Amino acid sequence: MSNDTGVERTLVLFKPDAVARGLTGRILARFEDNLLKVVAAKMVWMDADLTRRHYFDLEERFGAEVYNLMAEFMQSGPVIAIVLEGVEAVACVRKMVGSTYPDQAPPGTIRGDFAHMSKAYANAHGIAVANLVHASGSPDEAEHEIGVWFTKEDLHDYPTVAQQYLR
Ligand code: ADP
Repeated sequence: MSNDTGVERTLVLFKPDAVARGLTGRILARFEDNLLKVVAAKMVWMDADLTRRHYFDLEERFGAEVYNLMAEFMQSGPVIAIVLEGVEAVACVRKMVGSTYPDQAPPGTIRGDFAHMSKAYANAHGIAVANLVHASGSPDEAEHEIGVWFTKEDLHDYPTVAQQYLR
């Protein structure tokens, strides 16, 4: 989701591992420190339907086995969904989050700093890659995902003290 000023909105999920480990505050602080503005937030225990709607193409991309592991993991505890707004926010947040597999995510990224799971280990042990956060991959994906999680009324427009540094 973006407009002609370059300001975008992106969806971030704090996955069940981030919530259960009590890392949501520290991770959110990183986004706020980077002048990203929270415009929507809620805690949800995902069910099969919401998992399918959010990860609508995951089974096609990775097969049923990975999809089922992922679905079980995402439904193992509550998640916190937020929408962040900022200049080219989609790419900015993906950069901060780091690579899908935490062993490949550099130090300084969220996945690199708070996890070290490899794809090989996860696959050998039949477990999902617990990588703390989901972040939309493109502006089109963000628009779709925000629609899955939030209504228009859930998205708030309000001034922040940082706005003067964004113009
Ligand atoms: P990203 O979350 O970085 O956009 P993908 O959309 O490719 O990554 O994958 C969605 C999620 O599925 C990943 O974040 C990860 O938790 C999980 N996943 C991806 N590949 C595997 C795999 N081979 N084994 C287990 N879980 C996986």
